[in-house]
Amino acid sequence: MKALILHGPGKATVEDVPAPVATPGEVVVDVERVGVCGTDIEFFAGDMAYLREGHSSYPMRLGHEWAGVVAAVGDGVDPAWLGRRVMGNTMIGDGTCRRCQRGHQHVCENRDEVGIRDGRPGALAERIAVPERSLRGARPPGAGPGPKIHVDPRQV
Ligand SMILES: [Zn+2]
Repeated sequence: MKALILHGPGKATVEDVPAPVATPGEVVVDVERVGVCGTDIEFFAGDMAYLREGHSSYPMRLGHEWAGVVAAVGDGVDPAWLGRRVMGNTMIGDGTCRRCQRGHQHVCENRDEVGIRDGRPGALAERIAVPERSLRGARPPGAGPGPKIHVDPRQV
C-alpha cells in the first residue's frame, strides 16, 4: 500500500510499504481522511520535543487525526465493527496501570501515540491498524465520510 514516510526534516516521500494485518484485539481501517496537526508540522520541521527525548525517530509515518472504514478485524474483536466508519484515540494506554484503570489512558506512562511515538505508524497511508479499544464515534455503515476530520483537543 502507499504511505507517506517522513525520513527527516523536510524529507517526506510517498512509498510502497507492507499493508498492516489485523492482529488479535486490533482492527485494520481503510483511511479516508487525515488531519494535519501542529505536531505534524513540528515533526516535519524537525523540532518536535519527542525527537530529542527519544520517544520518536525518523523514518516515521505521521497522521494521528483520522477517519476511515473498518476493513478487517483480528481475533477477539467484535465482527460488528466491519464496515463501520470510525475514528480513534491518538493516545492508547497499556490498559493495565492505575491511570488507565481510572480512564486516564492519555497520560499512561506506557502509552502508544498513533503517528507520533515510535511503534505506532500513523494514518497517512491507505490503511492503519489500531486496537479495537481505541475506536471512537462509529458512524453507521453507508453514511458518508463527512466533510471534516475529528480533532479532539484532549488528545493533541
Ligand atoms: Zn496505562
